[in-house]
Amino acid sequence: MLGRIHSIETMGMLDGPGIRTIFFLQGCPLQCIYCHNPDSQKCDRGQQMTSSEIVAMSLKYKEYYDTSGGGVTFSGGEPLVQGPFLIEAMKGLKASEIHVAIDTSGYGHAGSFDQVLALADMILLDIKHFDEQVHQQMIGVSIKGLDIFLEKLKQFKGRLWVRHVMVPGYTDDTYSVDQLFERIKPIAHRIEKIEILPFHQLGIDKYKDLGLQYKLRETSEMNPDIAKEFEIYINQKLKGYITKRVGGEQLPFVASSK
Ligand code: SF4
Repeated sequence: MLGRIHSIETMGMLDGPGIRTIFFLQGCPLQCIYCHNPDSQKCDRGQQMTSSEIVAMSLKYKEYYDTSGGGVTFSGGEPLVQGPFLIEAMKGLKASEIHVAIDTSGYGHAGSFDQVLALADMILLDIKHFDEQVHQQMIGVSIKGLDIFLEKLKQFKGRLWVRHVMVPGYTDDTYSVDQLFERIKPIAHRIEKIEILPFHQLGIDKYKDLGLQYKLRETSEMNPDIAKEFEIYINQKLKGYITKRVGGEQLPFVASSK
């Protein structure tokens, strides 16, 4: 089966544990106003690869995965958009005993969700905003899609990290962070850590190149130190749920490496 790939990063250290190969899949149903890869949103672009090519390329780095606790991460764009291709590639990777993480916002080919979650060792869930109206303005879709995926995640048995891009004026206050936590509270007992990623302006030139309007031109970059303080704050809230893990299972609390 052929899939469309936006880009590939080898030796990645940020999108999941250990050393990883990251396949950024083409296509995304969202339009986040802070997206730094707007060229990844359209589904008909990107390099075509078969799922076997994904597996063959990943296998070249297996020694690095095995010694570092790493593996392969599918990111995007939104990897769930190419659900059937993703499933085929994941099956090949699992047959080769490679750890697979999915970096997703929870939107995409809904018919593939169950199988992706059954195959994935780890989900990195990107949560955008907590309010329906702002979500629609900021991301271009209803937050209900996230709620559907959160419901699915209640049955997920693998490791789970949550990530949030903090944009000044949108979520850089305690009320917003509390509300974000409320949103993910139903699965809090499964979450190992929450990462707050500070908004930056690095994607601005891509908007110029694509002739797109960049709505956050006047928005300041998020101060990483303040983002870190919020990250500590929200992870403290999460700590209260560690003792409530399903079946008494104790997953390690992993402090953010950022
Ligand atoms: S989900 Fe990611 S790729 Fe899609 S629009 Fe948002 S930031 Fe861009």
